[in-house]
Amino acid sequence: MAETEYPPLIEAWLSRHQSWLKLVFPPALEARYEADTRRERSLMLCRAGFTGTLTGLAIFPALCAALPDVALLSWRLYLETSLMVGFAVALAMRFDPPPLLRETLQWFANVLNALVVTFLFAKSRSPEHTLYAAGVITLIVYSTLGVPLRFRFALSGVVAILVGFVGDLVLRGSGLADPVRRDLVLLTVATGVFTLVANWRLELLQRRSYLLLLRERLRGEDLSLRNQELDELVRRDPLTGLANRRAYDSWLNALWQKAEGCGEPLGLVMLDVDRFKSYNDFYGHPGGDRCLQMVGRCLREQLRGTTDLVARLGGEEFAVLLPGLDAPTCAEIAERLRGAVADLDLPHLGLDSEGRVTVSAGVASLRASGGLRCADLFSAADTALYAAKESGRNRVCVADLGPAMPPGLGGLGTSRGAPVGSGSVG
Ligand code: GH3
Ligand code: MG
Ligand code: MG
Repeated sequence: MAETEYPPLIEAWLSRHQSWLKLVFPPALEARYEADTRRERSLMLCRAGFTGTLTGLAIFPALCAALPDVALLSWRLYLETSLMVGFAVALAMRFDPPPLLRETLQWFANVLNALVVTFLFAKSRSPEHTLYAAGVITLIVYSTLGVPLRFRFALSGVVAILVGFVGDLVLRGSGLADPVRRDLVLLTVATGVFTLVANWRLELLQRRSYLLLLRERLRGEDLSLRNQELDELVRRDPLTGLANRRAYDSWLNALWQKAEGCGEPLGLVMLDVDRFKSYNDFYGHPGGDRCLQMVGRCLREQLRGTTDLVARLGGEEFAVLLPGLDAPTCAEIAERLRGAVADLDLPHLGLDSEGRVTVSAGVASLRASGGLRCADLFSAADTALYAAKESGRNRVCVADLGPAMPPGLGGLGTSRGAPVGSGSVG
């Protein structure tokens, strides 16, 4: 089920009181509730089951002392049923059984305990019958709150325990005076009702808390998804679908820092559509936009490196970041880009009847060291682009940073564009 389908179900359950009574979610939500809480519940039942069974073992001698005539039977019955089943069920919980089996097993262990105690008192002729009610009450509390069964199981469990107990008192009397029997029945039934209400409230609170937490979690996930989408939108150029200036700036900074760390060069190719003003004048602004889209797509398709980034910086100007590549390699790539745009063979009748859309490119590659900043890379590539324009357009120029370049900005200031080709690098 899609994450977006949960919130309406959650709201409906939280606001509709009659669903509370049933303590069950709609099927899809119930399945998720089980999946999310199953492990934790099994572990809780496991721990509570072991603790409860050990506690029973500790207090059982007292019960046998109170019922000396059935002490031997008590021990046998207890060891062979309650104790074995109690430990077996607690152990089974370690293996995280499916929900229905899990609740049924726990129900069986709890009810069996109570029926064993009921049976022993029924068998005994000992006068200590007040202990009898105490034992059953303890087991009712144990089933509803100690090892809390799910409400529906707790309800049927308590009914089964009360039927055994009340049935014995009413039918056999157990040698007790009527007022005592009546009071014991009232006391036990009242305990059953109160603990069932507590069990119901406990499960209701658990389910409500789960839904509130789930709602918050889903809201958080939704918000971070929207933030991601928004972030994506803010960093994308709507006309070409390429990264925009904002994305380019943050990539440049990040790649520069990375280059500083690993000592690798960072390459930059700046591209500008030639004579684009006259293209716009001839074909109109929408025609110019279509041309920019085609050029942008062409540049993107030409890039092969997984870390290469092509961005539209604005107007008819594009930039390509090439991490780890030196100037000659960047020049080859720039030449490939220039050639690919020329191969589009887009008419530029704003120039003359033979005119075609072309781009000029400026290339620079720098190692991030010696006090250089990423702005220096940008200005070196920009200077090379200017040189490409100056030397005739539709060509690639590389910023010649020279081996004798002194470290720092002074050397870059003198960088000059060296045309490497119009149609070929060289
Ligand atoms: P050069 O070869 O020297 O680069 O000449 P140019 O005409 O391309 O350069 P110039 O900077 O003079 O003109 C750039 C033109 O790009 C100006 C403007 O009409 C156009 N332009 C800028 N942004 C957009 C845009 O988003 N869409 C369109 N269609 N045109 C744009
Ligand atoms: Mg231009
Ligand atoms: Mg321009």
